[in-house]
Amino acid sequence: MQFVSTRGGSDPVSFFDAFANGLAPDGGLYVPKNLPLLPSDLLIEDALPYPALAWDILGLFDSDHNPDHLVEIVDKSYGDFSDTMSAPLIQLEDNLFVLELFHGPTLSFKDFGLQLIGNLFEEQIERTGQTINVLGATSGDTGSAAIHGLAGKKGVNAFVIYPEGRISKLQERQMTCTGASNIFPIPIKGSFDDAQAIVKELMGDLETKEQLRLSAINSINIVRVLAQAIYYVHAFMQLPPENRDDVNFIVPTGNFGNIFAGWLVHQMGLPVDQFAVATNQNDILYRLFTSGTYEPEKVHPSHAPSMDIQVASNFERFLYYHNEKNADATLAQMAEFISNGSIAIPNFNASNFTATHSSDEDILKNIRAVKETYDYVVDPHTACGFQDLNLSKTNIVLATAHAAKFPDVIKHAIGEVPKEESLEALKKKKQVNYPVEASAEAVKEFVTKNSA
Ligand SMILES: *Cc1c(COP(=O)(O)O)cnc(C)c1O
Repeated sequence: MQFVSTRGGSDPVSFFDAFANGLAPDGGLYVPKNLPLLPSDLLIEDALPYPALAWDILGLFDSDHNPDHLVEIVDKSYGDFSDTMSAPLIQLEDNLFVLELFHGPTLSFKDFGLQLIGNLFEEQIERTGQTINVLGATSGDTGSAAIHGLAGKKGVNAFVIYPEGRISKLQERQMTCTGASNIFPIPIKGSFDDAQAIVKELMGDLETKEQLRLSAINSINIVRVLAQAIYYVHAFMQLPPENRDDVNFIVPTGNFGNIFAGWLVHQMGLPVDQFAVATNQNDILYRLFTSGTYEPEKVHPSHAPSMDIQVASNFERFLYYHNEKNADATLAQMAEFISNGSIAIPNFNASNFTATHSSDEDILKNIRAVKETYDYVVDPHTACGFQDLNLSKTNIVLATAHAAKFPDVIKHAIGEVPKEESLEALKKKKQVNYPVEASAEAVKEFVTKNSA
């Protein structure tokens, strides 16, 4: 399978090169050249073990690894998730399910993509004999998941930039308490979008990228998207037969990566009626799906910090498909975005999508309501998925993180805090981070000094 750029200016590449490049050289994002169809017998089977399903789906895209090797990589990535289903589907009532995506090592759905990415980096280093420097920006969970996927791995240093004071203290501890000498958490003064802009600038400068042997972890990496597509299929396979018509997935959304993964696998044949974009008060995607205009505003820190994002990188992939795979049109729109700061999309048609937005008050209210009605505790991001639910059809809300990662908000909402052993243990460890000025130049200098 080959991968092409959404902007059409880069040569098609293999699965492995799309993974290793991260961003395409023309500044676009990689997408599969043609979307394969899911094997038709898959959707009538009972749920396969997660790694087995992962081989089946990744195998459709990855013609670089021999199948046995892929099996090994996938087993290594998902073998130690704490729940035997990896992503168990919990039924709250007749038409309402929660897909728990927080059983990986750092308790958010980001582990699904980044455990796999960590193992692929390890393999890349073995294959090429060249060390790499992983550079990423995080709104909290990506960084901790990436760091966990890379800590202690040979030949790779990880540099993760995060907005100081705007992620939860436990998220910060997950990044700063690893004790691994190849891990460099970098707090900056600014927002997640500022951090992401620094990464984009350095990655977009091909000379710097090559010189520093930079690799990406952000959800611009297509492998993360593909890895996340798997659990949508896994969720469907866990549904009782009577719930398999008219399925809605409700996805707490910031960067549009997770929900795009679901939409992509829907294009491959997964029967889904609608995807609900659930944003917090930073609601660029809500505004997009209700007005057809994509226009970032200032970021306002919220109770759901991993969604405090106004530039949803993966939206470019959706735009490409919305343009019926016309890369020239996508390039023109992205140029418009860069020069005008917004895109008005003519004939915007997103009939598969609905959207909601939740204020901080809504988040607290939803955490409380879910606890009172179902005796179930959702984290502040997942709480956005419970906004304006319509239970006339099957709804699957993606639970994107464990509530114990956000003790302050949960305590505020329901007066108690769920505990999680792995997080408790972190509180006793020493924190190490490396503050750097919020500019591409300063980060470049830091990475140069500390490169692998
Ligand atoms: C990253 C994250 C999100 C947003 O996911 P996107 O792929 O950026 O849309 C939602 N919830 C949690 C807990 C996250 O860590």
